[in-house]
Amino acid sequence: MPTLLVKDATIVTQDAKRRVVRGDLRAEEGVITHVGPIAPQHADVVIEAKGDILLPGLVNAHTHSPMTLLRGLGDDLPLEDWLRTRIWPAEKNLTRSDIEAGTDLALLEMTRTGTTAFADMYFYADATAECTKKAGLRGLIAGTLVDFDTPEHKYGSLRDATRKFVQRWSGHPLISPAIAPHSTYTCSDETLDFARQLRDETGARIHTHCSETRFEVQDVLQKRGARPVGVLEKHDLLRDAVLAHCGWVTKEEIQTLSRHAAHAVHCPVSNLKLATGGTMPFMEMLDAKLNVALGTDGAASNNTLDLIETAKFAALVQKQHRWDARAANAQQVLDAATRGGARALHTGSGALEVGAPADLVLVSTRAPHMAPLHDPVSTLAYCANGADVRATIVAGRVLYLDGQHKTLDAERVIARANEAAERVASSAGLR
Ligand SMILES: [Zn+2]
Repeated sequence: MPTLLVKDATIVTQDAKRRVVRGDLRAEEGVITHVGPIAPQHADVVIEAKGDILLPGLVNAHTHSPMTLLRGLGDDLPLEDWLRTRIWPAEKNLTRSDIEAGTDLALLEMTRTGTTAFADMYFYADATAECTKKAGLRGLIAGTLVDFDTPEHKYGSLRDATRKFVQRWSGHPLISPAIAPHSTYTCSDETLDFARQLRDETGARIHTHCSETRFEVQDVLQKRGARPVGVLEKHDLLRDAVLAHCGWVTKEEIQTLSRHAAHAVHCPVSNLKLATGGTMPFMEMLDAKLNVALGTDGAASNNTLDLIETAKFAALVQKQHRWDARAANAQQVLDAATRGGARALHTGSGALEVGAPADLVLVSTRAPHMAPLHDPVSTLAYCANGADVRATIVAGRVLYLDGQHKTLDAERVIARANEAAERVASSAGLR
């Protein structure tokens, strides 16, 4: 594997001391071997940073990649109407080829905007895993479990298919197969028990939606006698689980999640757009030492996969909600976007230090909105956006550099996604 040298960068290390240093970063065999001034000068691949900001790869800890095809197809609707009148009809006829087209579009966008690893949950997980492998990103990719037929499987064969998917991808260097019981409002006790069994049998992780809306919490409480966190705890599904949203959790539930070393994924843009009401208790979670990561959720409810934008929203929504400008500061949201996500996905990255995987993002400081550079962490959280990304690197391999995608044919991916989206929308009668 070629050696990599990023020269003369403003390195936001995100290490334990949160050091910011000016210097070089070198990687060999996909692992960081030097961070700081005066790296050995020879390398197969040299990137001249010229002072631009180098930071650990961003981690999108909750999304549904193929939903890029449904981007803009049902805006400005309440969540239940949005699902019933737009998303579910459109999803009905999805084919494996559509999923590939949508996933590739998501991978193109994530690579372009600095995401190096993501947690995904959708139908045709195998297709998403294949596309991700080819594009070279890291993926915690989950086979979805629900109590009804999906576009891919009849209900009766869903469990076997999920088991096969997990077995097929176990041990892959970039793809970690996961199990996604969709939520406590779409999965019966039997389905939840099966998810736990499969986790225990295979070591695959659990990824699920949890306490996104007040309606969900009330509905689950009424039907199952416990709130979503309680139901998941009863089925022993919280341990090391990746839990999307957690917008309507109590202080007691935060303690429960922390005790089980679960990971809460804040998806502020999707929550604001769908008006889910509850604001995730981000500060209380940090106080309880609960790991917090950031997610975009699917592009149908965001409508982008720009994690830098999500970090800014995460900070702002907390400040507004708490009437406290000190809440969710720049360092805390950057931590969630990098260290928190890496911990949730077990990537081993999250900090630029010797021995860590070389998952890196280089952010340009050339645009007017990026000057002056008083505080690189503040600039990343409040000034930057995905379009400022110059380079995205996973395990020392350059996936994107200065406008060029190395693993994806951008023009072809966009054209194919447009065609697939058109077909999906018209076959659902939404055009
Ligand atoms: Zn979701």
